Order: sequence, then C-alpha cells, then structure tokens
Amino acid sequence: MVLAIVQHGDTNDDVLHRPARLLSRDEILSPEIQKLMSAMHKTMRHLPGVGIAAPQVGESVQLLMIEDLAKNHHSIPAAILAERGRHPIPFHILINPILTVFDVAEEYYFEGCLSVQGLFRILPRHNKVKVIALNEKAEPVTIEASGWYARILQHEVDHLQGRLYIDMAPDTTQVSVHEYRNYWAMATKAEIRAYFCQKTGIQLPS
Ligand code: ZN
Repeated sequence: MVLAIVQHGDTNDDVLHRPARLLSRDEILSPEIQKLMSAMHKTMRHLPGVGIAAPQVGESVQLLMIEDLAKNHHSIPAAILAERGRHPIPFHILINPILTVFDVAEEYYFEGCLSVQGLFRILPRHNKVKVIALNEKAEPVTIEASGWYARILQHEVDHLQGRLYIDMAPDTTQVSVHEYRNYWAMATKAEIRAYFCQKTGIQLPS
C-alpha cells in the first residue's frame, strides 16, 4: 500500500508543524507500527525519496527511514557526488532519534521535501552528526554520519520536531524543480555557495 503524503498547505498539515510523540518498545513491536513501517518503505520507494518521516504520512510519531539507492546517483557526475559526500545508504529505520552535531562546519546545498512539492531552496547543514535511536526491533543503534547522509538525517529528524526545511531556508534562494533538475542538481559547491551569497546578501567566508 502506498500512503498519501501530507503537503505543506493541506488543511491537515498541522501534523507537519508540531513535535511527534515518542514510541514505546511495545508500540514499536506492535502489528500497527510494523505495518506502518512497511507501508512507509513502499511509499518512499514508489515516490521515490531518500527519506521519509511518519508525520509526512499523517502519523505524529517519532519514526523515520532513510534509503539512498545507487540508482539515484546515475545521473549525477562522480565528482559532484564526491564533493557532496554522497554515497549509497542502505535502508534503515530510526525511532525516537536524538541528534547531536559533531562538527559545527556547515555545507550549503539545495534541499527539497516530499511534503513541499515543486521547489528547492539552499540550506546550510552541519557536516557531521551523531544519532542515537532505536531500530525496528526496538534495539539501540548509534550512527555517525557525514556529508549527504548527515544532511538527510538532519532533514528527517527536523520533521519529527515539527520543522520543515522551508522554515529555515531563505525563500530568496528558491528555485523550481525544473531549474533544480536541469542545473542545480549537478552544480558545484562553489556555485551554490555563490548563489546563496548573491540571493541573500550574506557574505560567507571562503
Ligand atoms: Zn522532508
């Protein structure tokens, strides 16, 4: 079953804008939550997306999943993937995650969201993070991530706190899906940084 994605601006979009509740061990192992996880995975692959959080399918619980398949990368030059620190990420589920920043250095890249269709904006994200969470068997897991994986983690954990990337990314940096796919998806870090400075008037140290 493919689930409907709540869109920012829908009449029921409050689920995207409030913190989700924690799940107990018994709830994680319950048929209801196991079924939700399976349906979210099918939905993420169908769309496709590299991450999805439960509030995006209307469930206000602290559950997210990430999967960045190698086939997503075929249209992006290897040098751009390397610069972004983007590598395939196997499917995994994180529940009740606690994210801490490992390295305050920030990277400036475009970001999009399944719940905010039709646009991309530039948002700085920390380059290295650590996440402590439970997996789908309610076992503790610890993840240390950098590059694109760290960005996806920050985006998805934000969803569980009721934050969308557009709450933080300057709207002057906004581009359409068409422009993003045709140009910015393949742009270098320096080009994107320069565009951010031009559009916001903020001078970033080089
Ligand atoms: Zn999102």
